[in-house]
Amino acid sequence: MPEGDVVWYTARRLHEALAGRVLTRSDFRVPRYATVNLAGQTVTEALARGKHLLILTDAGLTVHTHLKMEGSWRVFPAAKPLTESHKIRLLLANAQWQAAGYLLGTTEVLRTIREHDVTGHLGPDLLGPDWDAAEAVRRLTKDGDRPVGEALLDQTRLAGIGNLFLAEMLFLRGISPWRRVGDIEDLAALVELGRRLLDANKTRIGQVTTGDARPGRETWVYRRAGQPCRRCGTPIAGGQQGAAGEERARFWCPACQV
Ligand SMILES: [Zn+2]
Repeated sequence: MPEGDVVWYTARRLHEALAGRVLTRSDFRVPRYATVNLAGQTVTEALARGKHLLILTDAGLTVHTHLKMEGSWRVFPAAKPLTESHKIRLLLANAQWQAAGYLLGTTEVLRTIREHDVTGHLGPDLLGPDWDAAEAVRRLTKDGDRPVGEALLDQTRLAGIGNLFLAEMLFLRGISPWRRVGDIEDLAALVELGRRLLDANKTRIGQVTTGDARPGRETWVYRRAGQPCRRCGTPIAGGQQGAAGEERARFWCPACQV
């Protein structure tokens, strides 16, 4: 699942290709918006809010998309024939570029003044211009009994962390995903580490937390269940965490993380 860094990078690519240019074509391939036509409108901005992507036009409209599990946006020169077009949910084109949204989890159009309806629930955005660490900590500590592995993924507490960065930041701070939020002494440092990891990854393809981008060496614990801990050699543990029906995979070192 794409995390905040991927969404941030995607927003930047979309901004470079679309902002300041007039749309010559829009093609919504989702039934509800099949008749919406944005041609003639100028895109003013493309940005990320947590894991949500927003594309704004000068007509006061916001195109809201979310990558969810499998989605991606790709940008191509305007004249290039598109492959896998059956997977495209939304196409936005101008004279120079076409941006194709593949397998998007959410595709909708709303008035920009109603944007709050889709992003207002989000906690402070780790990669946003208005990032507020103190507010993120305040929201996290509202529920001190909650396991930290669940709380950090709750986008209403802070926005942008997904499974990979969760696993890695908890390893780097020596914290078990099952430790209660209320038992973590320095939540601010943990949150700040998450922001730094996302920030360091936002302009590159692929995610690296170890400083070593070679295949198989990118992460400390994520998707390494059964393999030796890079610090102590103990086999990395794997398990499920989360409310019934919303369980997600967890990876941690039983010796380094308590
Ligand atoms: Zn270890």
